[in-house]
Amino acid sequence: MEIEIATIGGYEEVGRQMTAVRAGDDIVVFDMGLNLSQVLVHDNLQTEEMHSLDLIDMGAIPDDRVMSDLDGDVQAIVPTHGHLDHIGAISKLAHRYDAPIVAAPFTLELVKEEIQDESKFLVENELIEMDAGETMPIGDRCKLEFVNVTHSIINAINPVLHTPEGAIVYGLDKRMDHTPVIGDPIDMKRFREIGREGEGVLCYIEDCTNANKKGRTPSEAVAREQLHDVIQSLEDYDGGIVATTFSSHIARVTSLVEFAEEIGRQPVLLGRSMEKYSGTAERIGAASFPDDLGMYGHRKSVDRAFNRIMDEGKENFLPVVTGHQGEPRAMLTRMGRGETPYELDDGDKVIFSARVIPEPTNEGQRYQSEKLLGMQGARIYDDVHVSGHLRQEGHYEMLDALQPQHVIPAHQDMQGFSGYVDLASKQGYKLGRDLHVTSNGNILQLV
Ligand SMILES: [Zn+2]
Repeated sequence: MEIEIATIGGYEEVGRQMTAVRAGDDIVVFDMGLNLSQVLVHDNLQTEEMHSLDLIDMGAIPDDRVMSDLDGDVQAIVPTHGHLDHIGAISKLAHRYDAPIVAAPFTLELVKEEIQDESKFLVENELIEMDAGETMPIGDRCKLEFVNVTHSIINAINPVLHTPEGAIVYGLDKRMDHTPVIGDPIDMKRFREIGREGEGVLCYIEDCTNANKKGRTPSEAVAREQLHDVIQSLEDYDGGIVATTFSSHIARVTSLVEFAEEIGRQPVLLGRSMEKYSGTAERIGAASFPDDLGMYGHRKSVDRAFNRIMDEGKENFLPVVTGHQGEPRAMLTRMGRGETPYELDDGDKVIFSARVIPEPTNEGQRYQSEKLLGMQGARIYDDVHVSGHLRQEGHYEMLDALQPQHVIPAHQDMQGFSGYVDLASKQGYKLGRDLHVTSNGNILQLV
C-alpha cells in the first residue's frame, strides 16, 4: 500500500497546522488551523466573513490546494485539540471535503462553535465524537485510533492511523504530564505498545515547539503549585487582585477559581473567550466549577460585574480576565487603559499565569499592557506558568517509546526544528533519509 504524507501547514511556523496522510485510496487530514499572528497584524479583521483564498494568500490558513495532488478520498478530518492553530481553519476549509470531522468531546464542541460563528461558508460535515482509547475504521484496511495526551487544553489526543505498512503517529501538541490536574495522564503505555506491535511505527510527526529547550517540561501540577504560592502570599492583601491566563486552559482556570476561594475571595470569569471556553467545558461536564461562579462575556454584563465588585469592595473578589498576551481589546488591556469600572490602585496585584508567546506582535502588545497597568500602580506577577509542549527529554522518550522508521518535525520554523534535528540525529536518524525536515505544501512518499 502506498503511503504519502502531505505537509500542508505549520511546517514553517507555529500556526495553521494541517497534515494529510494518504494510505492507498484513503486520506485522513490531521488539523486545520489558523495562524493567529497573521490575523493579529491586521487590526479589526473579521475572519468570519472572509473567503478561504484571501486567508490562504495572507498566510492565515493552510494552503490546501496541494490536496488535489493526493490520489484518494478524504475519509476523516481529525483536529487533535481545541486550540485555534489546530481548529481555526475548519470553518473555512472543511466544507470542501466530503468527510466527517472526528474529534474528542471538548474539541468537537469548540469546532461546533467555530462553525456556528462562520458567516461565509456553510459547513455541513458530519461531526463524530470519539474519545481517547477508541478507534474507527478508515476504508477497508486502515484504522484510526486516539491516544490520550496532555497539553495546555483538556481533551487533547494524538491520532494514530494504523496501516498495513505500520502506524502513522501524529504527535501534535503535547507535554508528558503524569499529574495533569484535570483528565488522565499521558498514555505512554499505549505509545510503547504501538511502537512494538505489528509493523511498528512507520512515521512519527512531532510537535517541535520547545525542541530547542533542554530538560523536561514540568507538569501542570507544578504550575498549580506556583500559582498557589503566589495567591497564598497575597492572602492578607486588602486591595485588588486580578489574574489572567489562556482562556482555553481549563485546568489553570480551575486552579485560579479554587485558590481565589481559598483566600476568601469570590472568583469571577470576565471576557468573551473566558466565558466561551469555561462555559463550554462546564456544559459538557469536562470541568466543574462552583455553582455560583459568575462568567460574563458581553461588554454590558462585564461592566455590571465590575460595578458590583467596586460597590462591594475589590478585596472580596478575584477577577480572572482575558488579556494575557496584551490583546488590545481584551479585558485586562481595557482595565489598564482605564476603560472599565474597575479602578486599579497603587499596589494592586496583577497575576499573569501565562508566558508571552515569543512573537513580535504579542511582545509589543504585552509590553504596552504591562506599562499601562504599571502606570495605574499595579504590581505585576509574571510567568506563573509551565508550557504545554515537550522539551528535549520528552522528545527523546517519545522516540524511545515509538521507535519510528521515519520522523517529521512540525509546529515550528527552520530555526525551531534545529534542536529536534540534533536530537534525532544523535539517535541514529539521518536528514533526508529517515529524518525529513520539510516545508508547507510538500508531499513525501514513504512507501
Ligand atoms: Zn496546542
